Amino acid sequence: MQSHYLEISMISTKGLLELSYLIGSVTFIIGLKMMGNPKSARKGNMLGAVGMALAIAATLFLYKTDHTSKEGLKIGILAASLLIGTLIGWLTAKRVQMTKMPELVSMFNGMGGACAALIGLTEFEHNLGNAGALSFIMAGLVIGSVSFSGSIIAYLKLNGSMRNPIRLPKYPIINFVLLIALIVFSVWMISSGCSDNLMLYTLFAAALIYGVFFVMPIGGADMPVVISLLNSFTGLAAAFGGFLYDNKVMLTGGILVGSAGTLLTIVMCKAMNRSLLSVLFGSFGESAAQGDQAEVKGSIKDINVSDLAVLMNYSKKVVIVPGYGLAVAQAQHVIHELELLLEERGVEVAYAIHPVAGRMPGHMNVLLAESNVDYGKMIEMEEINPTFDQTDVVLVVGANDVVNPAAKTDPSSPIYGMPILEVDKAKHIIVNKRSMNAGYAGIDNILFYDPKTSMFFGDAKKALTELVAALKSL
Ligand code: NDP
Repeated sequence: MQSHYLEISMISTKGLLELSYLIGSVTFIIGLKMMGNPKSARKGNMLGAVGMALAIAATLFLYKTDHTSKEGLKIGILAASLLIGTLIGWLTAKRVQMTKMPELVSMFNGMGGACAALIGLTEFEHNLGNAGALSFIMAGLVIGSVSFSGSIIAYLKLNGSMRNPIRLPKYPIINFVLLIALIVFSVWMISSGCSDNLMLYTLFAAALIYGVFFVMPIGGADMPVVISLLNSFTGLAAAFGGFLYDNKVMLTGGILVGSAGTLLTIVMCKAMNRSLLSVLFGSFGESAAQGDQAEVKGSIKDINVSDLAVLMNYSKKVVIVPGYGLAVAQAQHVIHELELLLEERGVEVAYAIHPVAGRMPGHMNVLLAESNVDYGKMIEMEEINPTFDQTDVVLVVGANDVVNPAAKTDPSSPIYGMPILEVDKAKHIIVNKRSMNAGYAGIDNILFYDPKTSMFFGDAKKALTELVAALKSL
């Protein structure tokens, strides 16, 4: 009778655990869907986090029913680690500036890769003789290690500690040989039944080295794409962990991260009109620095704040183009103030959003949402491009590459073929930036020399604050 009760309680505990995993998986899927829209993104993120917390708590308390004192100790250690990790993650994410987000993502991604690699290192000896489990272990170990060391290099490149790409001669061949060697080594370890820990750690070290070699030759300019690619690697590594433990939530989470990372990589490459191969083996921005693109000639003119205020005040339609400089200057609140002020005076205002404006997809949407800009006013590139010829004033704030007409007109330009916001069709183009310096791609912008363009020099926040004041005084 007693054993019958025990059995029922075991089943219900296991059932409860599986149910928690199912709920966790569903929250990931719904949360990810919600993140596709700026309106629901914050809630989607929170939903996914709650699902993850539920899955972790369920694992801690429901995974085994025979709680011995040692089991209690393990739970204590895990809970303490979780608390410390959560605290560090929360504080770092809270303090990070929006423009440093890609660095944070690369660091977090690296930690995910390290976790997957550690699973491989610890589970190896428990699964000797089981070729199926060992395949998942090796795959998770190798992919996780590559993702970890690659993400660290990406982080160093983004924060400026490692500026220039380091390329060994014939590096694509070296990297290819290294990759094949890693695969052959892993397959040999599984098929030969090798139980030597030294071999395991050699494989681990080789995978770490491959991660370094993989990212080292790629220019800093391509790091956001590389991070997204490494992100998909981490997801894949975690999914192998899910297979190993037959853990549905780990599997779902891993597959979602893996596929989302892959899709994001494709979207970014498409928005820049570049192939993944050219990102991995090309040299974006360097040819520009070496002066390969056509020389830009002409004169520029600037506009003072009172003339600009008058021009905008008497316009019917104004389109604001936010770019990376807006984020650097943290001018999102003052731009919203400008928008409201213009609307009060009967001017129609919209924001033109380029898919790769800023330093990560959705950067501008998130930035503008921070200052409560109405989502309906953020118009995507395809939708707004046909309307520029009916626009009186385009105000470009801290954007450069995404409005560079060379992408359409100059085949020698590194950004040739990249879809751009066609602001040159508007009646007046006002460009706010601090100098004539190039943007991310490191190239001159012929838009600045267009007779319809006036430069409004200055830090975005300062310049826009002055513009708002000038408008108020009219
Ligand atoms: P850019 O990097 O082309 O240009 C930003 C401009 O902002 C600079 O020319 C700079 O000029 C100006 N600026 C900097 N600080 C300030 C400030 N405080 N006030 C006013 N202006 C400032 O930005 P875009 O957004 O136009 O383009 C994004 C680029 O990033 C594209 O090349 C894209 O391919 C690339 N990229 C984007 C990714 C994404 O997912 N979003 C991922 C990978 C790459 P100055 O110094 O004169 O002020």
